[in-house]
Amino acid sequence: MQETLPLFLEDPYLSTAEGRVAAINDRGGILLDQTCFYATSGGQPGDIGFLEREDGSKIEIAATVNGQSKAEIIHVPSNDQAVPQVGENLALHIDWPRRYRLMRMHSACHLLTVVCPFPITGASVGENESRVDFDMSEAIDKATVSERLMELVDGNHPIFARWIDEAELEANPGLVKSKNVRPPRGSGRIRLVCIGDEAAVDSQPCGGTHVSETSEIGTIHIGKIEKKGRENRRFRIRFGELPG
Ligand SMILES: [Zn+2]
Repeated sequence: MQETLPLFLEDPYLSTAEGRVAAINDRGGILLDQTCFYATSGGQPGDIGFLEREDGSKIEIAATVNGQSKAEIIHVPSNDQAVPQVGENLALHIDWPRRYRLMRMHSACHLLTVVCPFPITGASVGENESRVDFDMSEAIDKATVSERLMELVDGNHPIFARWIDEAELEANPGLVKSKNVRPPRGSGRIRLVCIGDEAAVDSQPCGGTHVSETSEIGTIHIGKIEKKGRENRRFRIRFGELPG
């Protein structure tokens, strides 16, 4: 297995970085010693972008995924791209406008779990729209939720990551908001994404990339709340003002 140093965990604002080709897998996937490309997980899509060779030519990257473990990050080239040499140095460029929207949306999803403190049954972060499913039977209207979300956005709360060990997570079971998904055990450390001074607004296990303060999310609203069965509500978060 080829481990990749995930630079995006320490600095989610790294739109470019340098990396050395560590391996090319049997399907043409490119593995580097380190990367700023986020790999699809936790409902957040992986980065797209390009790798620039020393002669200035580009290798387009269509997807970024994990290999056998989360320590392995595979850059999947688009069709008909040149294959770099193992040991070659590359300049890595993610599609930053897209990633920044995903960061804003991912942070917005965390705020929604503060406004709606119910068990999460599913979530998907998107560039234009995200969805979060909750195990809840209460009726709640989208104008009220949108308003509460914007109070948290306008409060400009800091967002930061903190690592805890498994014992601390065991001692605070309330940190886990997912109904069925538990953070992986056995890795020793768990990353918490915290919102607010001293995490006063929220903290939950998450390996995603986030903006550094809630005001960066910008104007968002709940586009739709759908009833998915008796005890499930699906919320769709969109950018911009609530229409009407
Ligand atoms: Zn998250």
